[in-house]
Amino acid sequence: MPDIVEVVQEIAEEMRQRPDRGEVATYIPELAGVDPNQFGLAVIDTEGHVAAAGDCDVPFSIQSVSKVFTLTLALGKVGDRLWSRVGREPSGSAFNSIVQLEYEHGIPRNPFINAGAIAVTDVILSGHKPREALGEILRFMRFLADDPAIAIDEAVAASEQRTGFRNAALANYMKSYGVLENPVDYTLGVYFHHCALAMSCRQLAMAGRFLAQRGKHPVTGLSVVQPERARRINAVMLTCGHYDGSGEFAYRVGLPGKSGVGGGILAIAPGKASIAVWSPGLDASGNSHLGRIALEALTRRMGWSIFGA
Ligand code: GLN
Repeated sequence: MPDIVEVVQEIAEEMRQRPDRGEVATYIPELAGVDPNQFGLAVIDTEGHVAAAGDCDVPFSIQSVSKVFTLTLALGKVGDRLWSRVGREPSGSAFNSIVQLEYEHGIPRNPFINAGAIAVTDVILSGHKPREALGEILRFMRFLADDPAIAIDEAVAASEQRTGFRNAALANYMKSYGVLENPVDYTLGVYFHHCALAMSCRQLAMAGRFLAQRGKHPVTGLSVVQPERARRINAVMLTCGHYDGSGEFAYRVGLPGKSGVGGGILAIAPGKASIAVWSPGLDASGNSHLGRIALEALTRRMGWSIFGA
């Protein structure tokens, strides 16, 4: 087996030199100014060994990667009843698409497209004030990553709050079908703020570890979720984690993964490792361009694809 520390260094060096870097997201003004030349990679195996390179300690906006963790929290709160509020099929459309919602009576296709993640956020919010719900999400991230320094970037949250007209449309549409229980502004406020969590690759890989090790917290050994639930969250990541690029990601990388428009991807090699990669430039589906290429190289060299070497 190749040495993971060397492989991670090699890949970071290869990615640093590539001229094709994708396009940084501009629809959230605060993200438009991020330097596209950054690249970070962190791999943490189930024994806790870390291999990290490049800008692996630079915090970035995790955006939709947060949806893995809000899905975990909502399942913990209401269990499988969640699936009456949101589906678990790939959407085959863009992350912020509106068209499917009308055909499907306000029930989003899956928890990772924006509409689905807004519905999941609404579940977490019910029975709480927005501030309490956000506190719960933040505490969960700090607990998983074993790092009390993790914070929300208020400038990014405010930037999206000012310009998130498309998400407001999705939320209002779902509200008209009774899919959202809380005031639309409250649900959107919590959603924008958890998307604005700032984390480094190292912190994000740490936070994802429970999904690589049958639901167990890596430091305390406590059960974060049951093994069956970890397996199912991984399944939804594989089929829906990259929107209409999910098929291509499975084909090239072969791991459950979740992307965000900040350019981060969390990928899980079950039983082996949790991997976080970050490069801000995106492809046409809104997924990190070099992030995907780096993960493809990593799984090929390590033989980690869940579909075989
Ligand atoms: N906060 C972003 C949005 O709602 C998240 C989208 C993403 O990362 N794909 O548009």
